[in-house]
Amino acid sequence: MKYCVECGSEYQDHVTECADCTGSKLVDAAEMRQRGLPLPHERDTREFIRVGTAEDPLTAEDFVRMLEAQQIPVFSRARRAGTVDVLTTGNLQPWWEILVPEEHVARATELLNQEKVRLDSTADEAAQAAEDEERESEQAGAPSVLS
Ligand SMILES: [Zn+2]
Repeated sequence: MKYCVECGSEYQDHVTECADCTGSKLVDAAEMRQRGLPLPHERDTREFIRVGTAEDPLTAEDFVRMLEAQQIPVFSRARRAGTVDVLTTGNLQPWWEILVPEEHVARATELLNQEKVRLDSTADEAAQAAEDEERESEQAGAPSVLS
């Protein structure tokens, strides 16, 4: 048997890709255990809990890498917006949930919050830089009505 590292689904050995998670890796039970990922039949003894979400796969990957670096077993799973969202917003954007074992929830939540602040501040700096540039060009081109 092989298992999807993204969603944990079980597959026959000849299958090479998860039907649900495009491009995800299928590995054997030993490697799942090595990565600290739950096998389907172990799920009830080891609860994985959602500690955060990401709106794009790169952010999800960043979160997973960051938590793995802290020795926390973690996986992300792609979800899709529900039908209600499709009707109200007209888009069907997938999102990703970040899951860790119950005993790591507190630490993972803290680390995720730190990481989000870091990502946000990077985005803020970029926005600030663009704003500054805009202000400078406005000033340069503005007529000097005060003099
Ligand atoms: Zn999968």
